[in-house]
Amino acid sequence: MKILITNDDGIDSKGIAVLAEEMKKVGEVTVVAPRTEQSAVGHAITMKIPLRVTEYYKNGDFFGYAVEGTPADCVKIGIRNIMKTPPDIVISGINHGSNTAINIIYSGTVSAAREAAIMDIPSIAVSVTNHEAKNFDFAAKISRLLTILTLKNGLPNGTLLNVNVPDIPEEKIAGILLTKQGKSKWEDIYEERIDPYGKKYYWLTGTLTETDNDLETDQYAIKNNYVSISPIHFDLTDYNTFKTMKSWGIENLLSIT
Ligand code: MN
Repeated sequence: MKILITNDDGIDSKGIAVLAEEMKKVGEVTVVAPRTEQSAVGHAITMKIPLRVTEYYKNGDFFGYAVEGTPADCVKIGIRNIMKTPPDIVISGINHGSNTAINIIYSGTVSAAREAAIMDIPSIAVSVTNHEAKNFDFAAKISRLLTILTLKNGLPNGTLLNVNVPDIPEEKIAGILLTKQGKSKWEDIYEERIDPYGKKYYWLTGTLTETDNDLETDQYAIKNNYVSISPIHFDLTDYNTFKTMKSWGIENLLSIT
């Protein structure tokens, strides 16, 4: 099995090291990851500046390829230029911090997996629910076992799995749940500050307002110590509204008064 591993926290982060080590137990691992942290860059790609790729070594051993670009860049160039044959699966993570509800939109971790789905390659995004995460080993084990189950069952083209693992010891995990994307949103705060030259600037902060209260949602599942696994898709069409809008007479838009 050929496995492409990437992330958004950068090639030198702890999460990707633990994931790569675990996945070597079941396949041939290629790591292609951003040189620097790219959290919250979403599905951005690099078009106007050169994309530089260098070999990256950890403690003298070859670890993977560092890309001066985004997580989506890493998947594209990893599959098209770095790997000799396409991978059987792409795994993005293990992210330091959860990617549930609205965060999925901004997430570089999920976007890397979504890029693989666009390229018709099965993919999994994996996150641990703490920026200072301590329990990567269990999330890595989940990644390995879910990879085996996913390749056995297959995923429809365009679908990827978004996995969130509570940052607690394995024995405290309440269980594993199949979930949907929740609706919890950020209450944004732009903190106003003054730079050393006396000019105003802003720094984004805020809190996630948790409106999900159902174990079938990703955010509520992890809050209750469950591992959350959601099948998601990049098709943003609202199919219900597509049907109801048929009654709008949109083809006559130019003749409305
Ligand atoms: Mn991140």
